[in-house]
Amino acid sequence: MTDVPYEDKLGRVYEYGEMLPAEMSPWAYNESTAYEWIPVTKDEAIKKGLNWRDPDLRKYKDATMEVPKHIKDVKDDILKAILKCINCGKNYQIIQKELTFLRRFNLPIPDHCPLCRDRARIKQLNPMMIYNRSCVKCGKDIETSYASNRPEIVYCEKCYQQEVY
Ligand SMILES: [Zn+2]
Ligand SMILES: [Zn+2]
Repeated sequence: MTDVPYEDKLGRVYEYGEMLPAEMSPWAYNESTAYEWIPVTKDEAIKKGLNWRDPDLRKYKDATMEVPKHIKDVKDDILKAILKCINCGKNYQIIQKELTFLRRFNLPIPDHCPLCRDRARIKQLNPMMIYNRSCVKCGKDIETSYASNRPEIVYCEKCYQQEVY
């Protein structure tokens, strides 16, 4: 049992009904979604009482098969293969559902592990910020997550819908 109010290692007090202290999290901060939006260094994380996991230094295996470039050349034996991420070197596998999906949409077998793919996807998202801008077409004031220094052309909802439908 943990007593309430709870005092964490840094002496911060948590009352009943408050968010649970981060030090109770079974996951490391740098492995969480929070890290994707608010990245901090290891030192900063530790100062804030967040858990941190250092990279696993074990040696990963080499891929057990050479993956064909085109999905049409990929056989079902890929499901038994161990693959190696070309970015971080970690091993990963392809599961049946993934393979079915990739075949259906004619997509190649990914050469990055799931975590590297996720990090790459997050990098493409707009930051959680709202900017006041005006529609390039009609000049109406709009709020958008696209900052004004970005190359994208931003329309208001009405102009956008007229354009895409
Ligand atoms: Zn990776
Ligand atoms: Zn407009």
